[in-house]
Amino acid sequence: MRTFLTIVFSLVLFVSAANAIDEKKLVDMTYAFASDTLHWPTAKPFQLDKVNEGRTPQGFWYSSYNYSGSEHVGTHLDAPFHFAEGRWTTEQIPLGKTIGPAVVIDVRRKTEIERDYLLTVNDIHSWEKRYGRLPKGGIVLMYTGWGRYWGDRKRYLGTDEPGNVSDLHFPGFSKEAAEFLIKQRSIKAVGIDTPSIDHGPSRDFLAHQIFGAANVPIFENVASLEKLPAKGATVFAIPMKIKGGSGAPLRIFALLP
Ligand SMILES: [Zn+2]
Repeated sequence: MRTFLTIVFSLVLFVSAANAIDEKKLVDMTYAFASDTLHWPTAKPFQLDKVNEGRTPQGFWYSSYNYSGSEHVGTHLDAPFHFAEGRWTTEQIPLGKTIGPAVVIDVRRKTEIERDYLLTVNDIHSWEKRYGRLPKGGIVLMYTGWGRYWGDRKRYLGTDEPGNVSDLHFPGFSKEAAEFLIKQRSIKAVGIDTPSIDHGPSRDFLAHQIFGAANVPIFENVASLEKLPAKGATVFAIPMKIKGGSGAPLRIFALLP
């Protein structure tokens, strides 16, 4: 009996160890949602309206709020349907499409010189020369260094004028890089630490159109890319499941290797 119990006990320990997550290896890549959270100049900001905050007449604490705002505020998902008719809306994206191996392409040296820099196919080849071929089903994150401007509307977006979309300046993905990642590397999803995967001056949002047409989900305003290695981490991007949505607030995090 004693031996049997010991075996059962060891088995329980073994199973829980296998499922345990080392919390030190978790990286939160999400900005908090608040009324001053950066958003596209034409989007409705995030807002919390107080329903109650304080002691009730019965003496216990009770707080509750209503929230509102654009799907595209702060760290968020762009569903393929955002720029591609007939493609997945937010709730249709399978969970497996937003969880996968992280590929972090560091282009900070380029974006320091050119703030409207576009990721090239060459940048992808340079990454592969150092780290090996992109994993199939990879989640490609363009690391521009823009996170250091977060909170400074003028530097992050290029303009702090509400509604002004003609003076936007930040890096993004080129058409060629988007096509290469889909056709040659079968990636699963893409993300960036700027307001949009199409660079500031874009008027046709080609990267959005190309990734959308291929049902590739997009993550924007991704935080803390400096904490991720070039490869080896796993990304979990969990959008709010909005039915018929063109996007959604996103909780995105990584598990380090
Ligand atoms: Zn968006």
